[in-house]
Formats: sequence, structure tokens, C-alpha cells
Amino acid sequence: MVFHIISLFPQMLASTLEASILGRARKKGLVSFQFYNLRDYGKGKYHQVDDVPYGGGAGMVMMPEPLAAAIQEVKSKIHNAIQHSEFSIQNSPRVLYLSAQGKRFTQSKAEKLSKLSDIVLICGHYEGIDQRIIDLYVDEEISIGDYVLTGGELPALVLIDAVSRLLPGVLGSDESSAEESFSKKLKRKKEYPHYTRPETFEGLPVPPVLLSGHHAKIAQWRKENCK
Ligand code: SAM
Repeated sequence: MVFHIISLFPQMLASTLEASILGRARKKGLVSFQFYNLRDYGKGKYHQVDDVPYGGGAGMVMMPEPLAAAIQEVKSKIHNAIQHSEFSIQNSPRVLYLSAQGKRFTQSKAEKLSKLSDIVLICGHYEGIDQRIIDLYVDEEISIGDYVLTGGELPALVLIDAVSRLLPGVLGSDESSAEESFSKKLKRKKEYPHYTRPETFEGLPVPPVLLSGHHAKIAQWRKENCK
């Protein structure tokens, strides 16, 4: 899977995506992160990317032309990759705008997105992006929660992390994503509690059934303790 990230601050993402499980997945070629610095598509001598809002008011709005140029470049890169590929891959990427006004991101949305080959993420700033980009280019607006952040980079990282860990081979066999909070297998409930050694910690024992070795009873206990 390829994430194409359009951002004014790609450095906010790059270092995080190099670390830990996602860094390993990238090195193994399971996932790829392509950054498009919006400033490179800015207008004029100063590479302008934002302007005052029509109708007045505080804050700046991200201009449509630089965003459209960046999205077009992603699309032509994908088109070229298809021409040179022997595999049949999705030819049109899904374009997502991270937005506080979008639909709430969920585990089931992460599962659906994990089936795609190319995802474009637009990270907004200031008051947000010109509505015409949403109308003409964006397939979905996605929010990571009912609060407002300064930019779309942290939401993009949240989405990338949740989606990437579902890709085959990204998690080790001891870190399966199948039986986790909000997974289909747990009927979208929250996962049961976990315990490890020691058997008693500060006076609190591990539930005896987990020490019994009785697989059916353990499975039953776990089922009953999902919330
Ligand atoms: N004026 C916007 C509003 O009232 O909805 C808020 C803009 S916010 C300061 C700047 C950018 O941060 C947005 O364009 C979006 O990309 C990102 N952002 C902020 N909160 C977000 C959230 N909860 N989920 C996803 N993206 C968010």
C-alpha cells in the first residue's frame, strides 16, 4: 500500500513513520510513504499556499491551485506506475481530507481502507482548505474526533498507523490484529483484560481461570469480559 501525503510540514510525519513497526514495514516493502510538500506547488515567487477568506473573517484558507496540482501529480505518478506494472492495481487513488468536520474514523473504516493500494491524505492548516477542492477532488472527509487540532498531520499519522498495522505481514505473528478492540472477531467490542507475570501484584491476583490451562474456559472468560 502506498500513502501519498500532501502536507505543508512533511517533516512532522517522516520521523515518526521511520520508527518502530511502521519503519520496519516500510523497509520490508509492505507499505510506502510518499511525501508531497505543498510549498513546492505554491504560487508565485513566495510559493504562496494560503489566502484570506472570501466574506472576511479571521484566519487564512488554503488555496485550491497548489492542492489541485499536488493531487494531479499523485494521480499521474500512479498512472505511470500502472503503465509499468505487470500487476493489476487500483488505478484511481482514494483521496481523503483529514478534517474536524469529517466522518469519525473507526476500526471498521481502517479495515476498509487497508484493502486499497493507494491512499492520498490531505493535511489541512489554518481555517482549512478551499471548499472546491473538497467538491472536486476529495472522496471522503475523515475526522479523528470531535476536537480541533492545528493541522492534519497528527490525524494523518493516526490513520496511517491504524491502517498499516492491518496489512498482511506488518505485525509479527505474536501481535495479531484479528482479536482486538473493535475488531469484527470481538463483535466491535472492547477487548478483555490482559495479565502477565507475576501471578500476584501488590496483592491483586491474576483471575484463576487464566492459570487453569483450560482453553475453552479461558475463551469463555475472555468473551464475557469484553465490554
Ligand atoms: N476551521 C476548521 C473547523 O472549524 O473545522 C478547523 C481547521 S484546523 C485549525 C486545521 C486543519 O487541521 C484542518 O484543515 C484539518 O486538516 C486538521 N484537523 C483539525 N482537527 C481535526 C480532526 N479532529 N480530525 C482530522 N483533522 C483535523
